[in-house]
Amino acid sequence: MEKGPFVCTGCALLCDDISVELQNNNVSRVDTACRKGVSRIKGCISPMPCTVDGKATDINIAIKGAASVLKAAKHPLIFGHGNSTLEAQIRAIELAKKLNGHIDDTSSFCQGPLVEAILYEKLPTCTLDEVRHKADVIIFWGADPSHSHPRHLSMYSYFPRGKQRQRGWEEDRTAVVVDVRKSDTATVCGDMFYEIPIRADSEFMESLVSALSNKVPKTSFNMDPKRILELANILKKAEFGVVFAGLGMTYSLDSLEPLFRLMSKLNETSKFHLIPMVGQYNMRGFDHNLFKETGYINRVHFSGESIDHGPNHSIVELVNNNIVDAVLIIGSDPLASLPGQVAKKLSKISLITIDPCENLTSRKSKVTIPSALSGVECGGTAVRMDGVEVTLKQIIDSNRLTDEQIIARIMEEI
Ligand code: SF4
Repeated sequence: MEKGPFVCTGCALLCDDISVELQNNNVSRVDTACRKGVSRIKGCISPMPCTVDGKATDINIAIKGAASVLKAAKHPLIFGHGNSTLEAQIRAIELAKKLNGHIDDTSSFCQGPLVEAILYEKLPTCTLDEVRHKADVIIFWGADPSHSHPRHLSMYSYFPRGKQRQRGWEEDRTAVVVDVRKSDTATVCGDMFYEIPIRADSEFMESLVSALSNKVPKTSFNMDPKRILELANILKKAEFGVVFAGLGMTYSLDSLEPLFRLMSKLNETSKFHLIPMVGQYNMRGFDHNLFKETGYINRVHFSGESIDHGPNHSIVELVNNNIVDAVLIIGSDPLASLPGQVAKKLSKISLITIDPCENLTSRKSKVTIPSALSGVECGGTAVRMDGVEVTLKQIIDSNRLTDEQIIARIMEEI
């Protein structure tokens, strides 16, 4: 029997129209989701084992083992959170406080600067629902949602017919791609692809600001100024524009100043917004939670009543400078995503991993604790890439503890 709708936690788009078929408490069929979502909802290929020092054990011993590693540590770090519910993230922040420890997430080396600028109201933003109903000009900048968020174009940004965009992508929407290569999303957008060299994003932003100011734009790379002027004209006439900022843009910018200048210039003549293309389903939720608690979105150190913040409290710096002596990793695989030298150093520290699925980091961990897969084996709440809170529903029964319950049990032991 078909059941739903459920929310997919395969990426930060959090598609809320998923229906499934169940057989003996297993998901036998998933409708509506993309392939990425189907594999997420169908569960892990390699479920996380419950271990201490590489030996299988029961959950109570693993929780006690995790608590004793953290209690013995002088400088513990709690890292991850992007694949946990808001409720689990709040518990993780409480644990970091209790331990006088550090807390950080992947936003410290990906979309954090953009989320922070939005929370400080330095960048105008909007919701994906507004994009669906109102957007007439969409820019994918350093982003390829056809792969990273496969239903982005069909659910919200390009193909749907919105209330104010009844004639859809054929007549009512213009989609532009700025990227260093012709991605699949760029192929969809046809002539509106602007290919720029690697790390030329800020230069292209400045040339667009010139074109928007009716000056002849100049670039050090080979792009016809007429094409930039043509783009500037489209942007000036936009009624509701949105920039989807991908990692390609964020990694290329040494500072957000050129982006601020471009957004402010665009907003002199039209209405433009920015949404960061967040990957993990609830990374933005963690940043919101920590911001509420401390005024910062990541890289925080609790010490008694005081809160320190800064680049020196990021996972990369803490590991590189041999500061941390134990790391609790929740729903993340830093050994697979950090630069090789940092990952090598991290693998030598006492690691505890809480995750539904086995990964490279868990294979190097002193303690591994399996948790329920959120959005499938447990419910909760999360924040979508545009900042909207979404309720996740449980699809199948599970006797696995949630991240929130595991962290609460570790706190009790400490
Ligand atoms: S686009 Fe993202 S949220 Fe939507 S079904 Fe695919 S993986 Fe899931």
